[in-house]
This record gives sequence, structure tokens and C-alpha cells, in this order.
Amino acid sequence: MTGWALVNANVLTMDPARPRASAVIIDDGRITALDDVPAGASRVVDLRGATVLPGFHDAHNHMTGFGMSLGEVDLRADAAGTLDELYAAIERRARATAPGEWVVGSGYDQNKLGGHPHRDALDRAAPGRRVWLRHTSGHMCVVNGVVLADLGVDAAATEIPGGRVATDAGGRPTGLLEERAQLLVGSLVYPYPLAELADAIAQAAAVYLSEGITSCTEAGIGGGWVAHSPAELAAYQLARDQGRLGVRVELMTAGEVLHPLGAHAGDDRPVGLDLGITSGFGDDWVRLGATKIFADGSLVGRTAAMNEPYAGSDQAGYLQAEAADLQALIIAAHRSGWQVATHAIGDRAIDVVLDAYEQALTQYPRRDPRHRIEHFAVAGPRQLARAAALGVIAVPQGRFASELGDGMLAAVGPDRHGWLYRQRSLLEAGMVLPGSSDRPVVAGAPLLGIADMVNRRTSSGAPFNPDEAITAEQALRAWTWGSAYASRQEHAKGSVTPGKLADLVVLAEDPTAVGPERIAGLEVLATIVGGELRFGTLDQGPLSG
Ligand SMILES: [Zn+2]
Repeated sequence: MTGWALVNANVLTMDPARPRASAVIIDDGRITALDDVPAGASRVVDLRGATVLPGFHDAHNHMTGFGMSLGEVDLRADAAGTLDELYAAIERRARATAPGEWVVGSGYDQNKLGGHPHRDALDRAAPGRRVWLRHTSGHMCVVNGVVLADLGVDAAATEIPGGRVATDAGGRPTGLLEERAQLLVGSLVYPYPLAELADAIAQAAAVYLSEGITSCTEAGIGGGWVAHSPAELAAYQLARDQGRLGVRVELMTAGEVLHPLGAHAGDDRPVGLDLGITSGFGDDWVRLGATKIFADGSLVGRTAAMNEPYAGSDQAGYLQAEAADLQALIIAAHRSGWQVATHAIGDRAIDVVLDAYEQALTQYPRRDPRHRIEHFAVAGPRQLARAAALGVIAVPQGRFASELGDGMLAAVGPDRHGWLYRQRSLLEAGMVLPGSSDRPVVAGAPLLGIADMVNRRTSSGAPFNPDEAITAEQALRAWTWGSAYASRQEHAKGSVTPGKLADLVVLAEDPTAVGPERIAGLEVLATIVGGELRFGTLDQGPLSG
């Protein structure tokens, strides 16, 4: 076997030792060589100057949630720009929905609508139906009166630790459920059948492949409000068995499902999953990643835990659990061999998490645990320096700048604009920067995220902490090598290097050679996973020049 080859290509390898090549040779699912095409190659594809990169890897996404959202009412600003348009969209879906059944929508942002949808208006739009609308952040939702009645919080709220049933001035619930209060709705709809989840995964995979994604990290399965079933991992296995998984997935286990293991005391594995399975278990296609723990909530939803109040407010958000409980879970997971990925948005939440990582590493030293902080949204100089010193991987989302940036700037106020969603200062501090979307929170196509990492503009055109802009080359490296590193997979993927998996994306043009305003619109010609063409075509490369 001598494999096949892509030739006459502009290969951006993302490997500093050999940054450019003109041909990639592939055999048995792996890259075997660069530039030197063997005489007996079974097939030689002339890419006519097209650009080849390592396949994109989304280091933080919600694949099942995105797949399911494809069948829900689209409440993003371009589909429902005002509350009246939102109610009209719900009314249309309700007419096609039997009484008592669910009308589910997702993607609304109260910053753009001028307010959250209200239970009474939803009851008018969808009489007798159960309405459930998810905020674009995923950290809150609105339900109608029918659902509130099902939940027994129709007339008065109940206390929810780590969450809130919002009420009006008279104490009547408005329909808004924040953070862990969303588990109330979950109790009505979860668990979903595995077959339905596998369908959602397959639908998401088809979209991902069309965008050049070859790997993604699912940020929380099996428990808590981000999960869909306690048996969620089996849905990924089912999709794989059906030949519909499409992309390689790394699954983070929700921290909620870690439990005392009953292992030998000398093992020092206080918590984990049954059988002692931990980060790294699996193979090149389905693999267990970090455990996902939520420290706080959302910046645009103003629930994230800040050291100082939100702009124009006396509220500073809240943690999703007592700091001591969060830290105890983080330390127990660290001791038990887990990579820990903690969602922390506000600087107070980041402080609490860094304290836990520091204590874990001091008391229970472990070589290279690569603990992560998801989002790392509001980080002052102190948080930045501590994260770098502890070897933490911060996982920010470039696309948030354009879709959520205006709401974020307003939430923190001008004094903290320079602390928002750092990128450049992470690299300057020697940290590894992965690329991620948090889809379906925002659009997840990697080229959109890469463009925003370079451009740093909000949807209204305002600069979004522009000092943190990075180059297209740096953004591409984040979405490839950086994400592979965050998954402890840089030995197997993340660059076009002989020996690595043949996961590649072919672009019509070079993102580092076009103007930054054109990056988002570049065409994905083909996506190759494990040496197999999974999207597009290789037969008609564009004319170069
Ligand atoms: Zn997320």
C-alpha cells in the first residue's frame, strides 16, 4: 500500500517545525508523508492551489443540543427580532402542534428583544400547548403558564439552590427560569430516547462536516441541565454504530454524575464513573474527556458571579453552588484522575476555580493535568496571571464577540471592557488557546469564529476589546492544534504531520492571505476524516490565482 495524495495544495500544516507543504500523502487513515508523492500512489488529486488545513476541532460545543435545536423554533435575532415576532413564530408552530404537546424554541436574547418573553403572552400565542423557550446562552429559559402549572410554580416561586424562578413585583412567576431552575422543566422532558438523540447527533454531524469540522468536544453529558439522558454516551455509540457519527467526539462527563466509587482507599479515587472509567477512555472516534463542572452562569444573562456588580446594578450574579462545595468536587475529581473543565465566566467564579485548581495541584500533585476554565470571560490581570502560572487552559469563544458582544459590553461596563474574552494576552502569557463555539449558543461554523477572533467587532459594529485580537494564523492554530492540546490529543491530531490522523479541511482560499473581512465567507471545498472524504468533492479544485 502506498496510499493516495493531495498535490498542488497550499498546506498550512500548523506544525511550527514544518509550516508549509504542497502535498499530503494519506494511507490507512493517517498522514504518511508531506511533499514526496510515492510513485505507486493509488490516486493523485490535483487541488489546483486550494488550501489544506488540519480539520477544525471545536473544543467546546453542545452537539446533541445543537442537533435537537435544528427542529425547534428558531428564535435568533435574524428570525425573531422583536418580542411580537417571537410570539408570532410561537403562534405559527402552535397551530401545527396538538394541545398538550410541546412547542420548543431556542436562541432568544433579551438584550436584543428588549426583554424576556412572558408566560401570559406565550399562553395567548399557544393556548393549551406547553411552551419552552431556551435563551441563547442556555443558562435560562422561559416557559408558559401551562408548564408552570405542571411544575407547581404557577402562583408562587420555590427556592432553587443555584438557580431562580423569576417573579414579578407581586411575587408571581413570570415564566423565566434561571440556571439550575431549568432542571424543573428537565423533569418533564428528560430523558429523551437514545434513538432521538442519535438522530440529533447525526443531523449535527452533517452540518459540522460541511463546515470543515472533524473533531468536537461535547461540553457535558449525562447530568445537570445541559444533559439529555443519563445514558447519553450510548447515543453517541449508537450514532457511530449506525455509521452516522461523522466526526470524532470527545465527551465531557457532567460533574453531577461523578459519585463515590467504593474503590480501595489506597487508590485515591474518591469519585468517578462506575468501573473507574475516567478522562481518556475510548478511541479515536468516541472518547471520554474532562468532567464538566459549572461554577456560574451567563454574562449576557447577568447571572455570572462577578467580584463587582454589573454595570448600573447592585447585583453581582451568583455561583451555581457554595464555593466550598464546588471546590471540594473539583479537588475530588482531580484526585481521581480527571481532567477538570470548569465553566467560569465572572471574575469571582474564576477566582473560586483557580483557588480549587491551586489547592488540588499543591495537595495532590499530578503531572500535566491540563485543567480547563471554559469561557474565562471576565478576567482581570490577577486572574490571567494565576491561570497562566497554574498551567490552566482557558477556553474562550471567538464568535461571542459578534453575536453577544454588545450585551457583554453593557453588562460589565467600560472599566472592565479590557478584561473580556481575552485571547492575545493568553498567548502572550504562554497559555495554549483552543478554538470553540459553544454552539448552539452562537453560530458554530469555525470560519465564523476564526473571523471574529481576528476582527473583534460586535453586531452593532462596536470594537470588542480589540487589544485582544489575534492573527488569522493564530486563530487557525487555536481551532486545530490548540483544541487538540486541550483534549490531550496533540500527538494524534491538530497539525498536518506524518503519523497523525488524516483529518483535513480543504478551503477555496487561504484565510491568512485574504483580508480579515473575507475570512467568514471562505468556501469549504472538502472535509476529510480518517483519510475518507466526508463532505464536498476533491475532483474540481478551484483555479488558483
Ligand atoms: Zn457550553
